[in-house]
Amino acid sequence: MFKRRLLWQLYPSFLLIIFISVISVAWYGSQSLHKFYLNQVAEDLKYRAHLIEKQVLTNLGNQRFKEIDDFCKQIAAASSTRITVILPSGEVIADSDEVPGRMKNHADRPEFQAALEQGSGKSLRFSETLGKRMMYLAIPIRQDDKVLAVVRTSVPVTAIDEALKGIYKKLFWAGVIIAVCAAAISLGISKKISRPVEQMTEVAKHFASGQLDLRLSIPNAAELADLAKALNEMAQQLNARINTITEERSQIQAILSSMVEGVLAVDSSGHIVSINKAAAELLRIDATNSHGRSVEEVARNPELQQYIKDTLDNKQPTETDCFVLNDSGRFLQLYGSSLTDNKDNNSGAVLVLHDITRTRQLEEVRRDFIANVSHELKTPVTSIKGFVETLLEGALNDPQETQKFLKIIAKHSDRLNAIIEDLLSLSRLEEDSEKRRLSFEKTSIRPTLVSAIELSNVKADQKQIAVELLCDKEITAKINAALIEQAVLNLIDNAIKYSQDNSKIQVTAQEIGNEVLIKVSDQGCGIEKEHLDRIFERFYVVDKGRSRKLGGTGLGLSIIKHIAQVHGGYVKVESDIGQGSTFTIHLPI
Ligand code: ADP
Repeated sequence: MFKRRLLWQLYPSFLLIIFISVISVAWYGSQSLHKFYLNQVAEDLKYRAHLIEKQVLTNLGNQRFKEIDDFCKQIAAASSTRITVILPSGEVIADSDEVPGRMKNHADRPEFQAALEQGSGKSLRFSETLGKRMMYLAIPIRQDDKVLAVVRTSVPVTAIDEALKGIYKKLFWAGVIIAVCAAAISLGISKKISRPVEQMTEVAKHFASGQLDLRLSIPNAAELADLAKALNEMAQQLNARINTITEERSQIQAILSSMVEGVLAVDSSGHIVSINKAAAELLRIDATNSHGRSVEEVARNPELQQYIKDTLDNKQPTETDCFVLNDSGRFLQLYGSSLTDNKDNNSGAVLVLHDITRTRQLEEVRRDFIANVSHELKTPVTSIKGFVETLLEGALNDPQETQKFLKIIAKHSDRLNAIIEDLLSLSRLEEDSEKRRLSFEKTSIRPTLVSAIELSNVKADQKQIAVELLCDKEITAKINAALIEQAVLNLIDNAIKYSQDNSKIQVTAQEIGNEVLIKVSDQGCGIEKEHLDRIFERFYVVDKGRSRKLGGTGLGLSIIKHIAQVHGGYVKVESDIGQGSTFTIHLPI
């Protein structure tokens, strides 16, 4: 709705008051003046009537009406007054302006009747005789309480009007000047009243738009001064509170955005109120323009929507065991709690999203590992048990059979031992690296490689395999020599295992960029492409039968991978079926 400014409410009111006052005063003044003037004229006419009263009375006694008429005409000319003498019957016997005989009977004239009844009569009306508006005044002429005639004096009212017109004109201009002056003064007063209010309004608008550091100047009027002080105080307190809230908010924002867990807050209708970086990344939402949008719109995931709905409906905190994001295949665990306002109404919900993909994977790895270990251990144990039972059931009596069975039992025991050794070595490695018990030393690589080759000599010689070393003495790296020796020895062992007799194995070390590369290449059977990604997994073997026959445990490469990792490096494999394989350990310098 349109609202007028305070100035335009005050000023027109002042103008109206001035206008009404000036008009009323002027009207009352002119009316009083008019009345006063008429009274004066009436008084004057009365005096004039009294002046000729005596002369008329003298002539009346003698019935000399002609003399009275002449006298009237003579006096009237000198005093600009019309004088009429009327007998009690109404017959006009003398008139200064007319011939009495031609005049009508005046018994019905009001001033005449009033003069007879009240001793004096006054009337203001139009004279048909003269054709003018006239003021009449009549007094009776008495002798011994008997009215002999009535003397009537009159003047045209036009003369009175003329005289009053001049006064009215002056009155009008005086009124105009007073009104103009009063209007100007009242404009000044209106402005003086409205200006501080307007200034306060202006500053209050700035307060409303957030500029709370502005301050109002204090006006002179006590009430406005109090108001201005109160507004300043309010702005100061608001500013302080907003600063505190902003600070708290940025602290909360900082906490939320640094959290690994995703946090998502929605209002009671499921529209996003707040979302942290982690939640946005997990749900693949653009956090910057998701505010105010519904979860359905930004994250097309029916399970999540259902969970939010359940949380909003449920006053108790809720928790999902597991939740799969269909597109990314990630596992989430959700904790939800509905929010209530101070009137205990549902105002939304907050969800904490916990990415448990890694935990799940680790659990899976652990489960697989236990299954694999059990399986791998069970096989030799079952065999040993079987042969022992066979021996006990009588085979012991046959020395040849006994020896054969004991050899098999010994072989399976060796396998058990090998698996346990490898497992222990893996767990020791993990434990040592977790507890940071491993020491690393910047040292030359060559002696470690030489030592590993020497340790594999027996096996190599058995298959007439030549192990060649290509390594500069100067190549150094920060290594745990014992572990690197174990890793290279494992690689050479594998190379010997999976190579034909009389083939060659090459062990090389090179420095490339900021890495030292230790390569073990053979001319063996090679590995099919499909297995290359998985051979470093625990217990993964390409060909179970062959691996077992060769005394493999399926743990060798995962130990190597671990050793590379504790050095901050990694292992890679390249292989061609029938051509051979090259395993490379990358170590940072
Ligand atoms: P294993 O004890 O069975 O050798 P590893 O973890 O050392 O277990 O190796 C895993 C698998 O990788 C082996 O079963 C084998 O098939 C393959 N492998 C490892 N090294 C070689 C190699 N030099 N040549 C061909 N295959 C290899």
